[in-house]
Amino acid sequence: MPENKSGESLSDRQKYDFKRDLEELQTLHGRGTELISVYVPPGKQISDVANYLREEFSQASNIKSQGTRKAVQGAIQSILARLKYFKAPPTNGVIFFVGEIPKGGDQTRMVQYTLVPPDPITTFLYRCDSEFYLEPLLDMLLDKKVYGLIVIDRSEATLGILRGKRISVVRNFDSLVPSKHRMGGQSAQRFERLIEIAANEFYKKVADLATDAFLNLPGLQGILVGGPGPTKNYFNDSNYLHHELQKKVIDTYDIGYTDEYGLKELVTAAKESLMDLDLMREKRLILRLLEEIRKNEGSLAAYGEEEVRHATEIGQVDTLLLSEGVRKHRAEIECPSCGFKGKVTIVKEDDLARCPKCDSVANVTNTVDMVDEFFELAESMGTKVELISTDSEEGEMLLKAFGGIAAILRFATS
Ligand code: ZN
Repeated sequence: MPENKSGESLSDRQKYDFKRDLEELQTLHGRGTELISVYVPPGKQISDVANYLREEFSQASNIKSQGTRKAVQGAIQSILARLKYFKAPPTNGVIFFVGEIPKGGDQTRMVQYTLVPPDPITTFLYRCDSEFYLEPLLDMLLDKKVYGLIVIDRSEATLGILRGKRISVVRNFDSLVPSKHRMGGQSAQRFERLIEIAANEFYKKVADLATDAFLNLPGLQGILVGGPGPTKNYFNDSNYLHHELQKKVIDTYDIGYTDEYGLKELVTAAKESLMDLDLMREKRLILRLLEEIRKNEGSLAAYGEEEVRHATEIGQVDTLLLSEGVRKHRAEIECPSCGFKGKVTIVKEDDLARCPKCDSVANVTNTVDMVDEFFELAESMGTKVELISTDSEEGEMLLKAFGGIAAILRFATS
């Protein structure tokens, strides 16, 4: 089961596993209303959950159809057994999906999933239906990248944080920069000077508050700066921001307001650059790979399952590029005819596996998702892994032309 430490975002691999589990769960349908989903939020007593399930178990004895009754009671019992492994729910809670799935004829198979979600579950939920209840989890899959927001002009500034789709205000304040109307009795020159000093103080204050709000913000991807006039550009170009934050400024955007509404305007204005940014990273990696492949000598590229697995195993890989579109499994097999033991690749988890030596149908002792296998191998070698979506042309190419698996190497193969 994936571990999830409090407040930390999941690793790429955990997200991948979670996404893959949901994909599988979405394809499952029961014959009747006999698939059970149980959401246990953090803070819920396990004993309360067990009592609730025991109650549901006895209620289920009223179900008329014998098949459905047995399926529901069997599923509840299985969840009760699984609950025994928990003293308390994990930090984000835990979810059980259990039920009988038809597999042709009168046959069914029992599926059981225990999932730890990337975000906390908020309410306890028990549901018995012909499908598993997944909606709250599908929402969690939406990307929750974090951006710092600054909207500014000479009279006002607002700082905010964008998390996924949610915008929160950190601070809104007015500047003390005098307006252009000069007080009587002041010389124009002195007045200009006062304005500049006040403006400089204001920009420094905005920058200090940005440091407090953004510098140690976990998962900060970048900073967006916006405003109605030239102030935002002056603020950005004059390096008022902490140098670590300055490096993260994605761009400046022309917007009408500098209050909370301005933050919304800013996010809308930046939408395209944010989407591009995500795909840009993937594109850059694939273009780098293609560049290496084109080299006649000293190429730092490897592609295809076997070549990349070998390179990873000997520590030759700098960056492993895995397509999210890969749908394959590694099966550990034992051949009943020749005694061969080893691993082979199959497409579906329940496909027949053949012995690579004598071509007999082999006994499968274990299967793992192939992307997971590569993740694990890479982790053991300290190799970087980049999961590549199929949303860009380049990502699509990785999947179609290279089987979804490629690598940029530390040193060329001699
Ligand atoms: Zn064999």
